[in-house]
Amino acid sequence: MPTASSFLMPVYTRQPISFVRGLGATLWDEDGIEYLDAIAGVAVTNIGHAHPEVANAIAEQAGLLLHTSNMFGIPWQERLSKQLCALSGMQRGFFCNSGAEANETALKLARLHANKQGISQPQVLVMENSFHGRTFATLAATGNPAVHRGFEPLMPGFVRLPYNDTEAVRRAADCMPNIVAVLVEPVQGEGGVRPASAAYLQALRSLCDERNWLLMLDEVQTGMGRTGAWFGFQHTGVVPDVITLAKGLGNGFPLGACLARDQAAALLAPGSHGSTFGGNPLACRVGCAVIEVMEREHLPERAARLGERLLHGLRANLDGVPGVIDIRGLGLMVGIELDGPCDDLVHKALVQERLLISVTRGRTIRLLPPLICSEAQIDEITRRLTRLLR
Ligand SMILES: *Cc1c(COP(=O)(O)O)cnc(C)c1O
Repeated sequence: MPTASSFLMPVYTRQPISFVRGLGATLWDEDGIEYLDAIAGVAVTNIGHAHPEVANAIAEQAGLLLHTSNMFGIPWQERLSKQLCALSGMQRGFFCNSGAEANETALKLARLHANKQGISQPQVLVMENSFHGRTFATLAATGNPAVHRGFEPLMPGFVRLPYNDTEAVRRAADCMPNIVAVLVEPVQGEGGVRPASAAYLQALRSLCDERNWLLMLDEVQTGMGRTGAWFGFQHTGVVPDVITLAKGLGNGFPLGACLARDQAAALLAPGSHGSTFGGNPLACRVGCAVIEVMEREHLPERAARLGERLLHGLRANLDGVPGVIDIRGLGLMVGIELDGPCDDLVHKALVQERLLISVTRGRTIRLLPPLICSEAQIDEITRRLTRLLR
């Protein structure tokens, strides 16, 4: 069962297995045993382990230039921002090293947006069951008591509402004068793989337009092709003011971004925000390599196709199996909700089926396979999970 080391702060429940090598959706442990990766490092290694073009970008750039600081021009940063803006419809980017930092940037934009209007006690609407990170602002935005516990007092300035509930947002709009922004995930990942309805995001968009709030979408997990589109919001016709990215953006190299358009893109000024490592030539070159591979191989479309295949396969094999109460997903973000706690399945899947899965909120199996999986690998995930659950 899970192992502990006396030299590490025990913040993670670790499996007693270490991987030494990977290729695509395959991993090998210290004994040379082969595993199938159906979580991709929690939606990170979207184009697979040991991708040669990523490896090449890292090696080449490491031999040229790692870091100069943001006191100087960084052409790879410019290039990556331009590409991400073209893909997302945003206009300007800020680069950092993680999802939490990307969300911190978005939340700072919300504060500046308030400040500009002379609103002194601004509130950001956030959702129940949400996950936005572990820094003080992002943990306060997160809708999970386990993330808050022991870290009180929480940073103020958040109002929590039920997810996918348009009426709750309308009521908040009518009784609270100080709302300046909404921060929401297009699909709640840590919260159990729960997609927002298109109608809900559309309603949020109109309220934001009506009230001059910023619509800020946390696409840290849903972005970069995961849901079968480049970004989760692209399934809905809604265009947000701000999006945040990380996870799949660097395929395992630490890289985060906050993108914005129009008034939201004009809020930061010299000296108002920054990052030492953020947007360094190495990280941004990796981001460009990831996008190049994703575009050439049409990986968002592939994620949509493979996601359908996975969902159909799971439904065909697991519908009616005792304990399985729902199978849902969008693209290659798939959840199987069970009727009771199932955290032990992570270990069982690993040792019995050589399959990497994750469990969120105690009872939902979450699958996030790399977007480069073959159809055979998708079917193999279904086969192994079916065996495990039956
Ligand atoms: C993982 C995640 C984060 C936090 O990202 P870190 O890189 O761990 O800081 C934020 N939001 C969502 C939706 C995530 O899935």
